[in-house]
Amino acid sequence: MTGNSSPARRRSVTLAGKEKVATDTYVLRFELPSGDSIHTVAGQYVTFLLERNGKSVTRSYSITSEPGSHAAFELVIKKVAGGFASNLLCDAPLGTAFTVLAPLGKFVVHDPGGRSALFVATGTGIAPFFPMIQALHRDRPQTDTTLVVGYRYPADIILNERWTRLSEAWPRFHLVNVLSRPDPEWAVKPRHVQEALRERFRDLSNFDVYICGAPEMVSDVQDLSVQLGASKDRIFVERY
Ligand SMILES: Cc1cc2nc3c(=O)[nH]c(=O)nc-3n(C[C@H](O)[C@H](O)[C@H](O)COP(=O)(O)OP(=O)(O)OC[C@H]3O[C@@H](n4cnc5c(N)ncnc54)[C@H](O)[C@@H]3O)c2cc1C
Repeated sequence: MTGNSSPARRRSVTLAGKEKVATDTYVLRFELPSGDSIHTVAGQYVTFLLERNGKSVTRSYSITSEPGSHAAFELVIKKVAGGFASNLLCDAPLGTAFTVLAPLGKFVVHDPGGRSALFVATGTGIAPFFPMIQALHRDRPQTDTTLVVGYRYPADIILNERWTRLSEAWPRFHLVNVLSRPDPEWAVKPRHVQEALRERFRDLSNFDVYICGAPEMVSDVQDLSVQLGASKDRIFVERY
């Protein structure tokens, strides 16, 4: 159900849109030159070729917009305190040109073949899950699909309305937001994704598990998924 993407190559892109969607987090839209297009598969990423103090540096960002053939793509980027690329990209004025290598990556949706799907992310690790879960909805709508995503504060939650719209349209889709520092006035227990997974799932033997985000969380959730019975070859990960 993944299909083929364009071959990866250097492409010129221009920053064409910017929207703040959560604390320090932006959806950035990049356009290709007129007549150019890129064919992506849900879950792939682009790598920016940047220069810092005369040295080349690269940083990768998951494509969050619809897969297929398009003349533009969107990314969700969080400004990291003191971070070079995330601040450069989020602070760039519209019209700024960049060079990217794209599309890249093999973190894509696999045919569930009757299994359920579990997606686990923290923060901007949710970025590739927008197109991946939409692809599953389009191609395998009978799949029971759960997205567990961890943030610190309520204001960190990214594009929640897209997921609530999807839950309304697709009863087999379940969203679980987990806050490690919820508003003290809320009757919500501070939790991490690992605790939410233990509470909600007893047996993952019939699941495909997709995990994306900070390397430590990815390894933890990978181990936990195996403990809960997930087959190692049905666990797919992307480490930021
Ligand atoms: C395949 C792939 C896809 C990715 N997709 C996305 C995406 O969709 N959105 C996104 O925002 N990021 C994504 N990342 C992470 C991104 O590539 C950068 O690592 C991130 O933006 C930080 O880069 P920087 O240059 O701003 O920070 P740097 O200058 O590299 O780091 C500055 C400081 O911040 C620390 N730091 C680095 N990253 C983080 C972090 N995430 N949280 C807290 N501290 C950090 C570093 O340890 C260092 O001390 C992805 C990474 C990979 C490998």
